[in-house]
Amino acid sequence: MDRKTFLQTTGLLVASGIAGKTSAAERYLSHEPLNTSHASPAADFPLMDLHVHRSNTQTIDDIVAKSKATGIRFGVMENINARSMGNNEQMKAYIDSLRPYPVYIGLQPMELGWSKNFSPEVIAQADYVTMDPQVVPNGNTYGETISVWVYASYIDDPEYFMESNMKHYMNILTGNDPINIFGCPFFLPAPIERLYDKLWTKARLQQVIDALLAKNIAIEINDLMRVPHEEFILMAKSAGVKFTFGSDTRNQQTGRMDYCKYIAEKCKLTRNDFFIPERQIG
Ligand SMILES: [Zn+2]
Repeated sequence: MDRKTFLQTTGLLVASGIAGKTSAAERYLSHEPLNTSHASPAADFPLMDLHVHRSNTQTIDDIVAKSKATGIRFGVMENINARSMGNNEQMKAYIDSLRPYPVYIGLQPMELGWSKNFSPEVIAQADYVTMDPQVVPNGNTYGETISVWVYASYIDDPEYFMESNMKHYMNILTGNDPINIFGCPFFLPAPIERLYDKLWTKARLQQVIDALLAKNIAIEINDLMRVPHEEFILMAKSAGVKFTFGSDTRNQQTGRMDYCKYIAEKCKLTRNDFFIPERQIG
């Protein structure tokens, strides 16, 4: 039985109510396996992952070794927080600790207004700043903050969530903090994931594209969360938005980049479509 027959038989296409358009169910079922170690020789994008973390199981030496073995250039990211990176001295120590290695040095602030605790000169010593929109204030009508990766997110009103979500996106993209890369965009919490195509309207996607262009902010193709989706990438590409690959990995997963390579090839992204940090490494 082919896939379409299977979907019709099981009622998935009918139940989706948008037969003729690609439903969320069909979109996911239609994805072939992502392993693209056989990426076509025609692919012309930089093998660069600007979002890897050090961890107990992955040291900076491991990352450098993986870079040598795979040919991937890595950007190491560190979260900005009051505990370990809350002032100029700590930020400078972090940047200096990575300087001897052939990696880019990234900053990953978690909260709006973060930059007021640091001097612009110290921030500028990093190669780029990436911020993601994954913690959404006022995400339900109870006024609760929603972390989009949490399986048990309580969302009583999907449209209400999306209004808050868009407000949050715009606060990040149009605020006063420096930002070069918008990380892990468009991921929706599990309870409303089935409404993905309905909630991410063209108008909302376009609003994000306009904000990215206005401040020359690149957008991350996130390997772990498999975002953004093809429709957005094609819209953004033709509007002239730049992309980065970011795996957001911190263990043996670093260096795979299966979704990044798959979707970049599918959308025919080329070198010119990518943000590449200015500093020469290694
Ligand atoms: Zn991260």
